[in-house]
Amino acid sequence: MRQPLVAGNWKMNGSRASIAELLGGLKAGIGQVTTAEVAVCAPAIYLADTRAQLDGTPVAWGGQDVSVHASGAYTGEIAGPMLADFGCRFVIIGHSERRAYHGESDQTVAEKFTAAQAAGLVPILCVGETLEEREQGITEQVVARQLDAVIAHCGLDAVGEGVIAYEPVWAIGTGKTATPEQAQEVHAFIRGRLAAVADKVRVLYGGSMNPKNAAELLAQADIDGGLIGGASLKADDFLAVCSAANR
Ligand code: PEP
Repeated sequence: MRQPLVAGNWKMNGSRASIAELLGGLKAGIGQVTTAEVAVCAPAIYLADTRAQLDGTPVAWGGQDVSVHASGAYTGEIAGPMLADFGCRFVIIGHSERRAYHGESDQTVAEKFTAAQAAGLVPILCVGETLEEREQGITEQVVARQLDAVIAHCGLDAVGEGVIAYEPVWAIGTGKTATPEQAQEVHAFIRGRLAAVADKVRVLYGGSMNPKNAAELLAQADIDGGLIGGASLKADDFLAVCSAANR
């Protein structure tokens, strides 16, 4: 059985003070989460603070992006070995905001997936369609293209060691959630695409998941957890989503 995973994506939010408060709340309540693995993906500059607070707790931490390079003259970039140096277990790869605002292609995302694994990190690979693509009826084509680029570059076995997050772009930060049936349909398609490693890969749902809708989404056969944006910024909300993953 796949252990559920709930990962928070704080995006570019927080301050040292607010993160200390958030992590304090998370640590106080984490005992209620009995089944799921829990992680928070912090802005890089707050990873040291995050590590200092979470070391020795059941909560893991990670980055939100990684360079395709391991070191060198790449001003502003954060390398995989640097994230590993700060104890990161996970890193988000190919988030739709990186694809849309930073021009990340499927090929770049695939290279980042490899760079993350080379540094010993577990990549959380985001895939998902825009509203326009859904309306055109090409959701599966888009998701297949995004997945296949990583499979072609890294190999299926490597993808099997990572985590996939299905994040319909139209549901991210909009308050519009995919219905459990819509999400399950795409999750089943993703699992089918992963052939020999399908049984072990965790496929998370992301897109306005919150304490109200989490239980129904997480009850779907192919939804193994969540990637949580807005609701990960409040300890009580995030804990409620993590608890909804208890089995
Ligand atoms: C995300 O950023 O990965 C995300 C799912 O955001 P939200 O939960 O706010 O839609």
